[in-house]
Amino acid sequence: MRIILLGTGAALPDPDRCHTSILVTLHNGRHFLLDCGHGATRQMMRVDVNPADVAHLLLTHLHHDHVCELPFFVISSWILSRHGPLDIRGPQGTKKLVSHLFEGGAFDADIRARSAYPLRQANIEAVRPKVTEYDAGVIFEDSDMTVTADHVDHIPPEISPCYGLRIEAEGKVVTFSGDTAPCEGIARLSHNADLLIHECTFTEAFIEHRRKSRVGTFSHTSPSELGQLAVDCKVKHLIATHIGHVDSLSPVLKRAAIKHMPVDLMGPQQIDAFVEDIRRTYHGPLQIAHDLMRIDL
Ligand SMILES: [Zn+2]
Ligand SMILES: [Zn+2]
Repeated sequence: MRIILLGTGAALPDPDRCHTSILVTLHNGRHFLLDCGHGATRQMMRVDVNPADVAHLLLTHLHHDHVCELPFFVISSWILSRHGPLDIRGPQGTKKLVSHLFEGGAFDADIRARSAYPLRQANIEAVRPKVTEYDAGVIFEDSDMTVTADHVDHIPPEISPCYGLRIEAEGKVVTFSGDTAPCEGIARLSHNADLLIHECTFTEAFIEHRRKSRVGTFSHTSPSELGQLAVDCKVKHLIATHIGHVDSLSPVLKRAAIKHMPVDLMGPQQIDAFVEDIRRTYHGPLQIAHDLMRIDL
């Protein structure tokens, strides 16, 4: 299978990174999208994938940097002649989110205007996604792929449950952490994975600064913790993603982040800091993600 990291950033707008989104494509051409953060649709166009051809979307959690592209993705796919509804599997709350977006929701006027044309009316099902809310367990299964979700430790579950995903297809295992602090759920999902795509939002220096300034960082995984997880779970290839702007040179980000980040440390050298701290324990294949990174398994 082919995996393209469409977006590898975290919550803030970042000139060099889109929000989190991963495109998984099987040898038979079927596309699966994991999360749908800002930029996902345009990034698909850049890798020559028609958004209308992506039939399945699996959401890990409902933070905006993982779902905010949803209306653009769905409406663009409609205009690009998607046939049938998008299949969305997401945590509790996904139905409510989607129900507020399309017909009768935020983009009702847009959809009514465009569907006046017979061509758009003919595939109106494309703006009526089929949403299935899942809990831990197998959330997708057919002859090509099995996807298992497990709880991870990120948003308090009473507000919104969060999951990691383990994908089994073509004899390979790919695990995607979603956003999480170290926890048993992501360890279970990562066991013996051929590829672990795991969030690693801040380097140790940024975590320490945020601890001292009491901003709080405890819902993410540090580079040292990630290295240890990869060793413990016998991961065969590790990619650290969801990079929290620590490598950015953006003057806007530096000015805006001054209260909660050590902005003097921001810059590309932070990529080396991720590697150094992960390498304290994990010595297998390792990459720090960038947008449009491609992996063939
Ligand atoms: Zn996130
Ligand atoms: Zn999150």
